[in-house]
Amino acid sequence: MTGLRALILVVLVAGSGTAASAQLIAQGELTRIEADVRAVADAVLTVMPMDEPVRLEAKTWVTNAVAYRRDDAAWIGFNPLWVQGMLTRPEGDRWPLIAVVAHEIGHHVAGDTRGPVRRGHAAELFADARAGAVLRRMGARLPQAQELWRDFAVRGSETHPPRAARLDAVERGWTEPGAWLDRSDAFNE
Ligand SMILES: [Zn+2]
Repeated sequence: MTGLRALILVVLVAGSGTAASAQLIAQGELTRIEADVRAVADAVLTVMPMDEPVRLEAKTWVTNAVAYRRDDAAWIGFNPLWVQGMLTRPEGDRWPLIAVVAHEIGHHVAGDTRGPVRRGHAAELFADARAGAVLRRMGARLPQAQELWRDFAVRGSETHPPRAARLDAVERGWTEPGAWLDRSDAFNE
């Protein structure tokens, strides 16, 4: 029997405070999800190229995705359950998925994942603006480009800016995609 081997990934989904629930994703489904993330990453990279490949892996603990370096390579970890939810939408209406991947690739392009980790509000807003630029180039209207960020926390946090600032950054990137894709300096107010 290969039943057990087919269920290799246990995803823990944090509940609303009390308990965590476990879900299983079959290997075949995980392979399909990763292939879809790969297709999105390849499309983003045609608009915002990198000088090295981007590797992908499922990460059960992230909200949607995270960018990092490991073994001298650029990685994006994605939450397969979050992506799975996106994949239930029609193919032409998966802008939040594209937005997440573009934001994470934006961190790599900006060098945020190299050396001493450079994070903080300016880095987030720069990645948001770059994502807005990519979304525009891929055909998103402004409300479509901003959809991902509309669910984010109004007040932000120590690491992430308040929602209004992020929506503004996306709009700036969307409005002037060429300028933001060419920029290599940090985000300035
Ligand atoms: Zn970020």
